[in-house]
Amino acid sequence: MPSTACLADTDGQPGGISGDTTVGRKIHRLVTDLYPICRSITGDGLRTTLRKIGEQVPLEIHEVPTGTRVFDWTVPKEWNITDAYVKNSAGERVIDFRKSNLHVVGYSLPMHEWLSLTELREHLHASPEHPDWIPYRTSYYRDTWGFCLSHNDMLALKEDTYEVCIAATLRDGFLSYGECYLPGDTRDEVLISCHTCHPSLCNDNLSGIAIAVHLARALSTRRRRYSYRFVFAPATIGAITWLARNEGAVSRIKHGLVLACLGDPGQSTYKKSRRGNAQIDRVVAHVLRHSGSAYEIRDFTPFGYDDRQYCSPGFDLPVGSLMRTPNGCYPEYHTSADDLEFVRPEALADSYSKCMKVIGILEANTTYMNQSPKCEPQLGRRGIYDGVGPGGLLPVEELAILWVLNLSDGNHSLLDIAERADMDFDVVLRASDTLREHDLLVETGRRGGLEEVRHG
Ligand code: ZN
Repeated sequence: MPSTACLADTDGQPGGISGDTTVGRKIHRLVTDLYPICRSITGDGLRTTLRKIGEQVPLEIHEVPTGTRVFDWTVPKEWNITDAYVKNSAGERVIDFRKSNLHVVGYSLPMHEWLSLTELREHLHASPEHPDWIPYRTSYYRDTWGFCLSHNDMLALKEDTYEVCIAATLRDGFLSYGECYLPGDTRDEVLISCHTCHPSLCNDNLSGIAIAVHLARALSTRRRRYSYRFVFAPATIGAITWLARNEGAVSRIKHGLVLACLGDPGQSTYKKSRRGNAQIDRVVAHVLRHSGSAYEIRDFTPFGYDDRQYCSPGFDLPVGSLMRTPNGCYPEYHTSADDLEFVRPEALADSYSKCMKVIGILEANTTYMNQSPKCEPQLGRRGIYDGVGPGGLLPVEELAILWVLNLSDGNHSLLDIAERADMDFDVVLRASDTLREHDLLVETGRRGGLEEVRHG
């Protein structure tokens, strides 16, 4: 059994943002592969994305028909798009969907008309603060259409008659989502959820998807105490649909994370679950505190990603949200600048490594009973304690042994001990392993692993 809870991918290693980037490059490759696809909350781009995820991990794809009631919502019509453009009177495409799928407002109604510049302008969106970037806009649940373009390109438009075409369909169809379920020793679940509905945007959308895929890949070859459920669904309506169809099973979810915005160079940010003191909240806080790099922990707010749905009062699941720079807090957010250069392999590797550390702690956290609780057992005799060193300090490994012995009364988990001792969980875990080998501890909880399972 490994003595460390903090197993990274076999080709990655835990560490700061400068850490190993082999896994970071792999994650970035998946981001690159998914980047060109025009995704939305329904449609073939979403389906293609799920199919590509399904090439990497076992994925069950669900198709929920238009019109299906999901709590207070209804699954919308399916939107598909093949082309869109604005042509000037010379026949030149001055706005071209083929160059960037961000040019079309998501869920735009199909149309084909000739318009004056004044008429066209009412349907154009640009961002003067960042005049070279194309903003990302959607019009879900509203019957309208529009184009997005850089402010500079908008200024360059001259008086003319423009041919405006959106070759799209909005018809009864399906909402697609994918689930990767990895059964563990228990039916208790860890939920990992990410949204899959943004088109060519890397940090907001693809970073979460690509990291979730690589977590699933890594966990699939390991023994697991928990069962893991990865949900790849369009934001809001997808999570609502998933919850509506799985209402009876959500009590199995013991811990959960929504993953998004994990590839930018900013510091890690964790948004707590609505409960605020769930084990997942404590574990992520612990990992970030001992990560050696700057981080921020935010309280729950009913705004953000699908933690809004998982933490709605009717569910109140222990689900937090791990990000780097949060949605809306970086200038590239929801613009064409959230691209393949903006997400960095080393940041993706760092986020991945932190997720694996969180999972490692969830798996390994357990409770022990000290078998020699009346005064300290004589540790020197057992060769596991040298005492105070030349500087008058006790080595951290030995101090950890004293903490584990003292608090292992059946009521304190290893995480409790690590928090109280202000020590990295791994140090406390190693101390507990040592004491167990010397029959000084008996487990009263249930310890998981994450050891590699090798098939013969
Ligand atoms: Zn977004």
